[in-house]
Amino acid sequence: MNKKNKKLGIAMVGLGKYSTGQLIPAIVQSESFSLKGIVTGSEEKAQEYSTKYDIPEKNIYNYDNFDSIKGNTDIDIVYIALPNAMHEEYVIRAAMAGKHVITEKPMGTSVKQCERMIKACKDANVELFVGYRLHFEPHHLEAMKLGQTKAKGPIKKIEGSFGFKIEDNGQWRLQKDLAGGGALVDVGIYVIQAARYVVGKNPIAVRNVKLENTIFERPSEVDGDVTWEMEFPDNVIAYCSSSYTKESDKLYVEAEKGYIEISPAYYYYGLQGSTEQGNLKVERINQQKAQMEGIADTIINGIHNRASGIEGLIDVQIIEAIYKSAKTGERVTLEKIQEYTHV
Ligand code: NAD
Repeated sequence: MNKKNKKLGIAMVGLGKYSTGQLIPAIVQSESFSLKGIVTGSEEKAQEYSTKYDIPEKNIYNYDNFDSIKGNTDIDIVYIALPNAMHEEYVIRAAMAGKHVITEKPMGTSVKQCERMIKACKDANVELFVGYRLHFEPHHLEAMKLGQTKAKGPIKKIEGSFGFKIEDNGQWRLQKDLAGGGALVDVGIYVIQAARYVVGKNPIAVRNVKLENTIFERPSEVDGDVTWEMEFPDNVIAYCSSSYTKESDKLYVEAEKGYIEISPAYYYYGLQGSTEQGNLKVERINQQKAQMEGIADTIINGIHNRASGIEGLIDVQIIEAIYKSAKTGERVTLEKIQEYTHV
């Protein structure tokens, strides 16, 4: 920990939309972190952000000299907000520099990548987090409580969908080599996670997968629409969908004696919840700030890492099973899945 100002010094890798629109503003408001460094390939952004956030020249890195962050005692942790396929390289370089790491979701574009990231962080004895903001969000914490404590009886079924109309501008999300996949890896991952943390267990199989790669009325490199089902223990089924062609944003959990519905469920703002008793009265918060305070709790106070690399790995294991099932048309079992660690 940075003893001078008692806040953890953080360096942002990648100054794209999510970094600059959500993460940096949340870090600036955070009680536990201070933006001390930036890593960018753009001279203009380096100038702009160092002036705006008062970052000294010595804490500005580019993608080539990033490894020299190792000796920089201002930086305790590095946040990677780059295209999905680049997460692995920068997580491993950050770990080798002895820094804790947060990487954006999806953690990687393959199970193997996630495993290598976990190993590198373990070997370097640093914490690894995935930017799973909803693990710290009050509506979702209510849904987790309902499912995991069985307060309204056992869960009967879950429905989840997240989709938006993607822009036709050649962005990396539409390039398989940079994104790893399409709507499923980008937004379907929230639906996978939500079902897992509501049930408090991992699925045992995926089935009934339908995958369409038509986006903008032409074939795309990545999936545009995916629907799938996840089988959990005790006959709980999650009916899920993700899309780059239409809007949807919902989580519905039906228990024996009640339900919880959140819609919008996964976006940064405006979450709305209801149960059989009426509107859910929980606070709407700055999700990214809550995520950062949760991360600080792990680093400073040793609290269980709710959004660990293992969590990221499990979601990518499920994503690979869904793609496999889409290809073969068969139900795919998940007996080799990593043990569930979320509490
Ligand atoms: P973006 O395109 O706005 O930003 C990407 C950044 O990476 C830019 O600064 C770009 O210059 C840099 N970059 C470096 N090499 C690149 C290359 N070869 N091609 C393209 N860009 C390159 O993307 P974003 O929306 O900020 O997403 C970044 C990451 O954050 C992704 O992994 C995404 O899934 C994740 N994300 C998470 C959330 C969330 O709610 N947790 C929300 C949005 C994005």
